[in-house]
Amino acid sequence: MTTNCIGCGRAIPAERAELGYTYCTAPDCQAQYRRGPTVTAVAVNKSGDAFRVAEPDEIAARAAAGEFATKNTGLGTAPVDTPRVPAPRRPPRRPVAARAARPSWTPAQENVVRLYADMGLSPRQIAERARQNTPRLGITEALAVRVLSAPRR
Ligand SMILES: [Zn+2]
Repeated sequence: MTTNCIGCGRAIPAERAELGYTYCTAPDCQAQYRRGPTVTAVAVNKSGDAFRVAEPDEIAARAAAGEFATKNTGLGTAPVDTPRVPAPRRPPRRPVAARAARPSWTPAQENVVRLYADMGLSPRQIAERARQNTPRLGITEALAVRVLSAPRR
């Protein structure tokens, strides 16, 4: 079985005919019948649309032959003008919790609390030691607990 070019009547190579071409590769026939590359969206199983640049009749023929495995999708081929672009990514929003958890103590207070904590003192002992050594910082046991339960800055 051979297919002949609709332009010049010469036999079209078998593999070309299988792809659905009705014209040969002679320049005159290409110029007359070739419709130019078209981007065609092809539905592929469970993945995003694949875009292939090919002639529409080639795509249709290949899709009809099951090359793109369009089983059960109900989707065939649909010519589109331009490839889809991914939706722009939104800039990450700053978590609200970060603002709410902003420390309410001074760096000096934190330094002292962490210094005593690193020495192995409990929050109660830290408050007692701080009351003696740095009373102006006003470090309480509750404050020491808050500082120590917060992540290190
Ligand atoms: Zn031809």
